[in-house]
Amino acid sequence: MFDNLSEKLDKALHVLKGHGQITEINVAETTKEVRRALLDADVNFKIAKEFTNKVRDKALGQNVLTTLQPGQLMVKIVKDELTELMGGDAAGIDLSGNPSVILMSGLQGSGKTTFSGKLAHYLKTKKNKYPLLVACDVYRPAAIDQLHVVGEQIGVPVFSDKENSDPVALAKAGIAHAKANGQNVVIIDTAGRLAVDERMMTEISQIRDAVQPQETLFVVDAMTGQDAVNTAKSFNDVLNFDGVILTKLDGDTRGGAAISIRSVVNKPIKFIGTGEKMDALDVFHPDRMADRILGMGDVISLVERAQEQFDEEEARKIQKKIAKNTFGFDDFLKQIQQIKKMGSMKDLMGMIPGAGKALKGLDIDDDAFKHVEAIIHSMTPEERSNPSILDASRKKRIAKGSGRNVQEVNQLLKQFNQMGKMMKMMQGGGSKKMMQMMGG
Ligand code: GDP
Repeated sequence: MFDNLSEKLDKALHVLKGHGQITEINVAETTKEVRRALLDADVNFKIAKEFTNKVRDKALGQNVLTTLQPGQLMVKIVKDELTELMGGDAAGIDLSGNPSVILMSGLQGSGKTTFSGKLAHYLKTKKNKYPLLVACDVYRPAAIDQLHVVGEQIGVPVFSDKENSDPVALAKAGIAHAKANGQNVVIIDTAGRLAVDERMMTEISQIRDAVQPQETLFVVDAMTGQDAVNTAKSFNDVLNFDGVILTKLDGDTRGGAAISIRSVVNKPIKFIGTGEKMDALDVFHPDRMADRILGMGDVISLVERAQEQFDEEEARKIQKKIAKNTFGFDDFLKQIQQIKKMGSMKDLMGMIPGAGKALKGLDIDDDAFKHVEAIIHSMTPEERSNPSILDASRKKRIAKGSGRNVQEVNQLLKQFNQMGKMMKMMQGGGSKKMMQMMGG
């Protein structure tokens, strides 16, 4: 996410970091570089200019010139301004209604249906809600089917009626259905068009006026950069929506939309989509995003994700196995699967401070896991639970079965043994120390 921008900002600020003596000219040069980095990231010109003017004024006002570490102060100023630009504090969603009604708007292909599913999944699993998805796209039967597929995937009911071609009536019927069935959040997925057009706007306005939702959300594809910002403006002019959902941030390498959209429509970004899967959804935290953009990582989100996936029961089982020397490859596989649930490796790496820069150019993908998994899957159950029986001929068979070579099998075995030793050491009193170190 935003690798280029991070790198360019880092370079711009590096100039200041290197100088013993800072002059107004250095500050001016740095802010110019920052502005260029923002423009390259597809941030709107006016916003970039205002941003850097503010940064420059603050820098000079806070005596960057005489401070001992001008580079660091400058980074802080840029971070604070970026956070402010993206909205300051994280914005929640209003779930006060009974049922609460959430209306989706946005162009076709922006990710409305996917987000509707992700939001339902989020509300069900994290907020203990009983959502109902309502299909109001009366023009594309495929869109209705898609919502049903999504609903099935996450175990959330879907209300639709292919016979009914009136979206307003459908939305109302959906809410009545939720009331009758005890569902306390209604998520209405609507029809989008390929471009902003009047009929679509009229239709969504009519639905909104009829159902008076707690939240009207505007969903937009972050990869479309400045277009995303312009579309947001058109929708907001008509709908005066409550919040923005930025989707496909996993594919957005520039970041312009994330940075500019808030200040153009003056509405908060509420969630971001970071993948096609139903759990690829994050609450948008402007300060954390600013940290990521400045290559400072996002340790808080990383820890949160780890906690979400952490299964105490499972951890206890594993501890027992280690103590009894029965930790095998099946357990190892489970651990890998837990890590994978936290997100893609690239995404996770981006959350570790400095890792983005250090690992730049390396092609980190999730194939490394695939290879390890393939090797483990080629082992017999006996071999998995008792790896010490792996002799040369077994290794050769496993290598062949998994499409890897014997060295890789050996390497995995070595890693596995090392990990076993380390875990044993940690159990022998070392674990307390480790936990203390990690603040646990
Ligand atoms: P709609 O027409 O607005 O309902 O858009 P869809 O929900 O059908 O999404 C369009 C395409 O974008 C689908 O292929 C989705 O899988 C994909 N998509 C949606 N959100 C994300 C996201 O956050 N990341 C990625 N990579 N793809 C997404």
